[in-house]
Amino acid sequence: MVRVTVDQNKCIGCNACIRACPVPSANKTENGKVQCIYDECIRCGECIKACPHGARDYIDDIDVLLDLMKGGNVSVIVDPAIKSAFDGSWRHVLKWLKSNGAREIYDGAFGADICTYMHIEYLKSHPGTKVVSQPCAAIVNYAEKQKSELLSKLSPVQSPLMCAAI
Ligand code: SF4
Ligand code: SF4
Repeated sequence: MVRVTVDQNKCIGCNACIRACPVPSANKTENGKVQCIYDECIRCGECIKACPHGARDYIDDIDVLLDLMKGGNVSVIVDPAIKSAFDGSWRHVLKWLKSNGAREIYDGAFGADICTYMHIEYLKSHPGTKVVSQPCAAIVNYAEKQKSELLSKLSPVQSPLMCAAI
């Protein structure tokens, strides 16, 4: 997700999104309508689920990816969650990626194995250490934008997808 949008024509100012948002400073209300403050938003998506009026949505970077893939030099790492996100049709998604120019498609589970192994090794050599792992981009955004005291607790091991990419 690149950013959250709020359709001002659909928003009725019920504040359900604000109640669901974990970041008090990520929204503001003007003239009875809510707006997202992009610099504060950690892109967790909770407000999209919470809005009962379909006013919240998001913009992603799929068009940028599709343009890049046309060159034939982009490989894709697919998270294992594709099987639940596209229940019954995930193989079609892989075929679609291929037909749109993906060079190779890698299983992100490979990176999860590396990530798990590296965490075990890190914790063995740093007994008792508490770390915040990095698979969830919203958690990392939260540490970077809202809770800088958590930055030193972020795991030195990358997320499973980054481990696969590296
Ligand atoms: S939940 Fe939806 S309709 Fe309600 S204030 Fe938020 S964006 Fe507007
Ligand atoms: S994406 Fe998350 S942080 Fe951003 S406005 Fe929605 S609920 Fe708040």
